[in-house]
Amino acid sequence: MPPEAKEILGLPDLNHIETLYGNKRVLIHGELRNRPLCPRCAHPHVRIKASFPRVLRHLRLGNQLVRVRFTSHKYHCQGCKRYFNLTLQGTRPKKRSSEAFRLEVFERHHGGVSGKHISDTHEISHATVERWYQGFIKERYGELKGKRTPRVLGIDEHFFTKKKGYATTFADLKKHTVFDVVLGRSEQSLEAYLRKMPEKHRVKIVVMDLSSTYRSIVKKHFPNAKIVADRFHVVRLIGQQFLKSWAQFDPVGRKNRGLLSLMRRHEKSLSPEQRAKLERYFEEFPHLKAIWEFKQRLHDLIRLKMLSKESTWLVIHDYLRMVRELKESPIEALRTLGETLSSWREEIGRMWRFSKTNSITEGLHNKMEMISRRAFGFRNFENYRMRVLALCGWDGVIRRKRKLILA
Ligand SMILES: [Zn+2]
Repeated sequence: MPPEAKEILGLPDLNHIETLYGNKRVLIHGELRNRPLCPRCAHPHVRIKASFPRVLRHLRLGNQLVRVRFTSHKYHCQGCKRYFNLTLQGTRPKKRSSEAFRLEVFERHHGGVSGKHISDTHEISHATVERWYQGFIKERYGELKGKRTPRVLGIDEHFFTKKKGYATTFADLKKHTVFDVVLGRSEQSLEAYLRKMPEKHRVKIVVMDLSSTYRSIVKKHFPNAKIVADRFHVVRLIGQQFLKSWAQFDPVGRKNRGLLSLMRRHEKSLSPEQRAKLERYFEEFPHLKAIWEFKQRLHDLIRLKMLSKESTWLVIHDYLRMVRELKESPIEALRTLGETLSSWREEIGRMWRFSKTNSITEGLHNKMEMISRRAFGFRNFENYRMRVLALCGWDGVIRRKRKLILA
């Protein structure tokens, strides 16, 4: 090898001979640097059996496509007496594009550039874009097989399709990734999956909404896990039951959109004018005002987080008193709320000690909805699952192994 020989970026097995700049393309002439070892027995004595020209689609420089031309060989190994074709570092067997090029297409398509557009800019067919994309997805999915069961698990449901209904998401709340998605949300549909789930003893904390189905599943399958209520869902439940009780006082006012928006808000986010408007409304319904104030206090309580053990006890004391008041309320919606909050008091109590919430899972759900929309919906759940795990379950780092050792 001449000492001044330079490698071609991304293709370290080739020496650079010359670069020709055309209008639309850059053509690089390359030359093999070394004779390879046998990929089967690593024998150093290999003989060239046949030679043929090869052109690789390589990078894209601005609006110019780079092609690399070199002479490739078929070899015969003197050790094991078998034939093999050369595989360059940075390429895969039988592929006419380098990995860098394929990866660029994948990442562009993943970033939202349409297959049609990439097909124009990169001079490959639309079908090829799709095929490569699927290939990378499969690979990401394959990399995830050995992953460990998370210590902090988020469980939540999300809508899949009209025909198949809901699916359950298991999220790793520490890594902010999807651990798995399973079709269905009933105990029956999750049973088989959970029975086979490995390392269930590792799960220490499970964050979930106030679903008694999920609670009984977790108690049954995760012996070491403590259940923590999800703050977001608790806040939502309080809001919903509060609006129901409002409808009981004034069904007409409940349907007034302007009023609805004011009633939903936290008192701190009301302007003085809005506050005055609300007060005028409350003059008509003094009981409703009392309920509204109660809701504000309950809300403030629920929003607390990462408290010390001591302050948690104080908060729990307040909470239990409010739950008692709710349970004694003459209004049905509030009684129901009281019952629910009472049944979940342990899980809600843990929520104050803890900072993680299922908002991470909610964020992942948004991402999953985008995946589904980009694919114009999935009919097959396994395809959907694979895509979700590949895109929401990995850390974003694409790892590549060296394929061939060259002498
Ligand atoms: Zn060999």
